[in-house]
Formats: sequence, structure tokens, C-alpha cells
Amino acid sequence: MHLARFPRIRLGHLPTPLEFLPNLTRHLGGPDIYIKRDDCTGLATGGNKTRKLEFLVADAIAQGADTLITQGAVQSNHARQTIAAAAVTGLKCKILLEERVQRASEEYAESGNVMLDRLLGGVIAARCPSGTDMARAMEDLAQELRSQGGKPYIIPGGGSNAVGALGYVACAQELLGQSFERGLRIDHVVHATGSAGTQAGLVAGFAAMNSHVPVYGIGVRAPRPQQEENVWKLVQATLDHMGVSLSCVQRSDVVANTDYVGEGYGIPTDAMIEAVTLAARQDAILLDPVYSGKGMAGLIDLIRKGHFKKGENIVFVHTGGTVGLYGYRPIFGQ
Ligand SMILES: *Cc1c(COP(=O)(O)O)cnc(C)c1O
Repeated sequence: MHLARFPRIRLGHLPTPLEFLPNLTRHLGGPDIYIKRDDCTGLATGGNKTRKLEFLVADAIAQGADTLITQGAVQSNHARQTIAAAAVTGLKCKILLEERVQRASEEYAESGNVMLDRLLGGVIAARCPSGTDMARAMEDLAQELRSQGGKPYIIPGGGSNAVGALGYVACAQELLGQSFERGLRIDHVVHATGSAGTQAGLVAGFAAMNSHVPVYGIGVRAPRPQQEENVWKLVQATLDHMGVSLSCVQRSDVVANTDYVGEGYGIPTDAMIEAVTLAARQDAILLDPVYSGKGMAGLIDLIRKGHFKKGENIVFVHTGGTVGLYGYRPIFGQ
């Protein structure tokens, strides 16, 4: 495994800190909880898409692209970060937003990430109804740009392909370095999983380094079989892209618990509201309502149920999304 062989541009404030959460750990009375601050990757407030975009945008530039195209939900952190990456590199950026979340508030439609999308100079090419084939819509938009002489580069939703996942292979390497420096044995890595690139990169990276660090994904959208299959496929594609033998990894290394999705993607749950509030009031950590809040809700519940135990060291990867809180103002800060 030799990541310097792949084109990469620097976008993030890396490495991100690995911090202990003393108050949440004491409050829950279970394992020691550490947090990997990938909400602090910089790039227009940061989040997990920064690491992926370092490889994706470098690939776009290497291919001579002039415009980035991507898609996401209306409060997409990925869209906001892609627009920010385009601003930094002088590329144009067109995004398609899917109205994936029903019963959304006015804040959801216009504040938070959407406000920043505009401020950062992105073009919201269209808002598509829920259920639109977004991959197809991006291809249509790219075709239109090509017919006008443009050179578009399509980044899949969430930046999750074998190129983007390299960002989280790099994060696995970074985490193992930090764990060694401070003599911290990592028993479990826990994080929210959506378009699968974060989990696939971490699983591939830990496996390629033969580190035996288990990764526990907590789903925010798809049912478990589909989520695990998406991650598993991308683990294999990522190892293949790196030229690492697939024999280092097994299907059972991919675990995605989807018990904390609730009614659906982006729809608040009581457990998410509790988790976001608890993290804020215990250790002043600002999670997000769509991803890290549900991820933390899962971690809290699994600690209370004794799945993660006293004496273990857990690293929760804070994948960002804090800006999305503004899109959910009516449910917080009462
Ligand atoms: C995109 C996102 C995730 C999910 O990461 P994937 O790589 O898409 O699985 C988690 N948290 C936040 C805040 C995100 O924006």
C-alpha cells in the first residue's frame, strides 16, 4: 500500500486531532470514548468529504476537466464541500439536489448547507424530486456541457468510488499512526455510514495494514443487507485500485447496523436528538442531525446495552455535517 502513487491535492487541515471525550465517557460509564475530529478537516467548515475530494479533484484535474458535477440531498455536506473544492482549484461546479427528505422545513430548504452552496459560488443546476435517478441526471447534465465544449467530471454521490475511498484508506493510516504515538490500543472504530466510501476506505485501509481494527458502521439510509453489500463491493474495488490482494479482507469485516435510521434518511429520531444534545452538553461536540447524530445515537445505545464494554477503547469518527444543524433549527435549542 503506497498512497503517494495516486494524484492528490491538499484541501484539508490534516491530520485531524484524535481527542478523548472525558465527560461523555463518564456519563455513559462504559468504554473510553475517543473522537477522530474529521469535522475539523477545514475546507468551508470541513467534514469527511474533504479527504475524498483530495483524490477526486486531483483525478479531475489530471483528466483536464473544467467543471465538477455532483449530486446529493438538499442539505448535502458533500455538495457544499465539492463546491468549496472547486472554488479553491478554480474549477466550475454544478450540483443537482434531490428533494429526498419529506416534510422538510423552510430552514431545511434554504439554510445551512444550501446557503453555503450559494455563498461558495456553486451553481444549483436543478432540484430533483425524491426518487430521481441521480446518476442518470448527472450524466445528462455532463452530456449537455460536453455538447457546449465543456469538460465535465462526474463525482458520484458522497464521493464514494474507489478513488474517493482512498481518502479513508489514508485516514486509517493516520489513525494507526496516532494510536501508536500515544500508545492507544484501538478496539473499535465506529462511524455513520451512508454512500459507503468512508467505511469502505477504513475497512480496506485497516485490512491492507493487517491491523485487525474492527470498523462498525451505523447506517443512515439503506437497509442492512444493501448497505453492507454497497460497502463490501467498494472495499474490493478500492483494494483492487490500490493493487492490494483481496485475500486480506473478508465479507464479515463489513458490519453496518441499520437499527438507528428511524423513519428514513434525514428524518429526525428521538435518539438522534438525545445524542446531539448530549454530545453538545457533555463535551461541546457539535454533531449533525442526518449522519453523526444517528451514528452517535447508535454508539450510545450499544454502550447502554453492553455491546461495547468498560475497558475497551472506542474511536468515534466525527464525519462532520455540523452546518446541517441550521437546517433543523425547529427541533433543537428549545
Ligand atoms: C457523507 C457523510 C457521511 C457518510 O459518509 P459516506 O462515506 O457517504 O458513507 C457521514 N457523515 C457526514 C456528516 C456526511 O456528510
